Amino acid sequence: MSECPICSRPSHENDSLCQYHQHAHKNLREAYEVWIHALDIDWTSYLDHVYAVDGLGSWVREVIEHIKSEDGSLE
Ligand SMILES: [Zn+2]
Repeated sequence: MSECPICSRPSHENDSLCQYHQHAHKNLREAYEVWIHALDIDWTSYLDHVYAVDGLGSWVREVIEHIKSEDGSLE
């Protein structure tokens, strides 16, 4: 059993993130797939844009902070 690098909750065997942050990350990726069809935007710019949105859920916010701190290693 490994630990989520963001919150130290137990993570799934093949996932580095806990179920909550994994879910937030999955949503983030799925939204990005939609965005790149509508806008010419790269992953980093997308994260900056999403991060600036008011009312963003804390799970997603923490995932974005983690991705940025890891130089996009979760991309
Ligand atoms: Zn977590």
